[in-house]
Amino acid sequence: MKLLVTGGAGYIGSHTVKALLAAGHEPVVLDNLSRGHVAAVPAGVTFINKDIADPNLAELLREEQIEGIMHFAAHSQVGESMVNPAIYYENNVVGSFRLIEAARQAGVRYFVFSSTAAVYGEPDEVPIKETADLHPTNVYGRTKLMIEHMLRDYSSIYGMRYVALRYFNAAGADHSGCIGEDHTPETHLIPLVLQAAQGKRESITVFGTDYPTADGTCIRDYIHVSDLASAHVLAMEYLCDGGESQVFNLGTGNGFSVKEIIDAAKKVTGIDFNVTIGERRAGDPAKLIASSDKIKDMLGWKPVASEVEQVLADAWRWHEAHPNGYDDKD
Ligand code: UDP
Repeated sequence: MKLLVTGGAGYIGSHTVKALLAAGHEPVVLDNLSRGHVAAVPAGVTFINKDIADPNLAELLREEQIEGIMHFAAHSQVGESMVNPAIYYENNVVGSFRLIEAARQAGVRYFVFSSTAAVYGEPDEVPIKETADLHPTNVYGRTKLMIEHMLRDYSSIYGMRYVALRYFNAAGADHSGCIGEDHTPETHLIPLVLQAAQGKRESITVFGTDYPTADGTCIRDYIHVSDLASAHVLAMEYLCDGGESQVFNLGTGNGFSVKEIIDAAKKVTGIDFNVTIGERRAGDPAKLIASSDKIKDMLGWKPVASEVEQVLADAWRWHEAHPNGYDDKD
């Protein structure tokens, strides 16, 4: 299939482009490079430097004969969304609306959307199922939920079919070490821990040790980015085969505490770095673990790279090979 991948120069988008190529599809990357890296796009893949809100998008979709869209392009930092909500409403909500509407005008029938576990907010029970209540506790999660609502309406009224994938904690890097995670600023635990191991930061700060968990630190479900990528390919093929619109969680069903991640990173890197204890970070739920039974049952998805040691080893390979991220390349 010929597919438009918005945000294909970003972290999860670039890994999905690689998975699409491996599965024999033809990805076309659309990215405004506000946060992505052109070096993350494989040679030979058509790259279009444009915004998702570009007024000529419908025309472009027609010209390129795009059959389906994978939509990754978004601002995705919870903290930033709480101090600068305007850019989240502008880029995520307005931008996605423009893209979805362009898709309708151009007759694109299949849409796979990067959603997030942040749509659930503080869960009543874990593992979290897709049927859990949706009470996002931050602007980022709210913008993603609004886009899910748009897609639901476009699906039921206009017949565009979609899959929304609610990711838990994406981590790791392609096993080759050629593409990986490079955010500025970096806010995620695993890359920050590995930067501490590299000596690029003095220490890693644990945000709170008084949560109601066994060691007092927050528990998250870390899923390898390559396992996320394979789920996107399955989701698009499912739609193309006539599948109905769906929402799926993507996680491993296993939770690791912040302290456990730090200990595992020390083991994988063989480096003992400094750890400091800090205050809780606002808006952090104690425990987020996915039930991914639905996507396993319906699409046959299976995470194959998400053992925490492998997630860390692959992320470490990328960090060691690219101590300045993509900077030395683009
Ligand atoms: N965390 C931490 N120190 C850091 C960054 C993150 O203790 O420097 C914790 C954070 O409070 C959360 C977990 O690590 O409990 C995962 O955070 P991350 O930002 O990677 O992902 P999130 O769960 O917010 O999507």
